[in-house]
Amino acid sequence: MRVAYSAAIAANPWLAREARIERITPEVDDVQTYHLRFTDAEVQANYRFTAGQFNMLYVPGVGEIAIGVSVDPKVAEAERTWDHTIRLAGQVTGALAKLSPGKTIGVRGPYGSIWPVTEHHGRDVLLIAGGTGLASLRAALYELLLHRDRYRRVTLLYGSRTPESLLYETEYAQWERLGLNVITTVDQAASGWTGHVGVVSRLVDGLRTLDPNRTVIYCCGPEAMMYYAAGSAVARGLRHEQIWVSLERNMQCAVGLCGHCLLGPEFICRDGPVFRFDQIARYLNVESL
Ligand SMILES: Cc1cc2nc3c(=O)[nH]c(=O)nc-3n(C[C@H](O)[C@H](O)[C@H](O)COP(=O)(O)OP(=O)(O)OC[C@H]3O[C@@H](n4cnc5c(N)ncnc54)[C@H](O)[C@@H]3O)c2cc1C
Repeated sequence: MRVAYSAAIAANPWLAREARIERITPEVDDVQTYHLRFTDAEVQANYRFTAGQFNMLYVPGVGEIAIGVSVDPKVAEAERTWDHTIRLAGQVTGALAKLSPGKTIGVRGPYGSIWPVTEHHGRDVLLIAGGTGLASLRAALYELLLHRDRYRRVTLLYGSRTPESLLYETEYAQWERLGLNVITTVDQAASGWTGHVGVVSRLVDGLRTLDPNRTVIYCCGPEAMMYYAAGSAVARGLRHEQIWVSLERNMQCAVGLCGHCLLGPEFICRDGPVFRFDQIARYLNVESL
């Protein structure tokens, strides 16, 4: 599902606005959450995003990157900030990691398609995340919990490399209390780990409560993980039309002009990043595409 760009973006999609880093929360190794607020109070007051969308973050003199919005929308509204959870990967994320609270960066957005949560009232919703992919699902997760009575079973299957790299672990108890079934798995278990070990798609294979007739899936993580998780869901009886994935490929313009993020005929920035699986499944297993 696509949403209309706000009037400001429609008028000038290239315009980055200045935002201040209000706080930084260390999450796990190499991952931090940045709590941001626009320095112009009017820009901040008019800033709206929908779960699934991303911003372009600009570090002057270094470059610009796409990052999903990862905040609880209720907290964003109350605190007039919003969050990005970012893994240190290279140049721009490296420059961001050197900034401290009080410093400013450029932000343009939000851009892109959204998780279709409002279309799925009355359904079971299965969230499947791998690694920092959970960041791009977090706003949708909170949206589902805010209106928990509108959905049937809501489950999170989350796979991470190690127990130490599970994101947002301090929030799981609260998510469970609010009606989310959280099931985690790790690639490598440390001593004392009593949970699942193995890839997240195996949790889909073994999920006893999965009802193919009433479930929709939202999935974000490495592309191979999403491909195999969707394959497991199809083996359990779901159709491609019941699965949405968010693609986090490298992109540049964010408005469907430069072609940097093209996947087949789809601009991930403009037509995605959230796609219904039948739209893009055929391109995901094409080598080097
Ligand atoms: C819609 C969208 C949402 C995203 N949300 C998040 C998020 O919430 N949190 C987060 O940490 N990251 C997210 N990303 C990924 C993020 O944009 C990249 O990690 C970032 O661009 C890396 O920038 P850099 O300059 O630090 O690294 P670079 O110096 O550009 O690259 C370092 C290395 O990583 C590789 N690389 C760079 N970007 C990507 C990418 N997108 N996919 C695979 N390999 C890449 C490069 O080829 C290079 O080998 C998102 C990407 C998209 C498109």
